[in-house]
Amino acid sequence: MFCESCGSSLETDVKFCAECGTRIHKNVAKPSIKFSKPSKKQSVILASAAVVVASV
Ligand SMILES: [Zn+2]
Repeated sequence: MFCESCGSSLETDVKFCAECGTRIHKNVAKPSIKFSKPSKKQSVILASAAVVVASV
């Protein structure tokens, strides 16, 4: 993992960054947000495809 403040690599179990002293937050499980709105992304793809067709 890496410090979100200075970007230096950190040990797995540290609570503070050794470089800048920033407190390390362990946000491990947040995968559900990316997959909650598949339809919107699909509409964006369709829109971009329509632009490609129109430009030809
Ligand atoms: Zn840091």
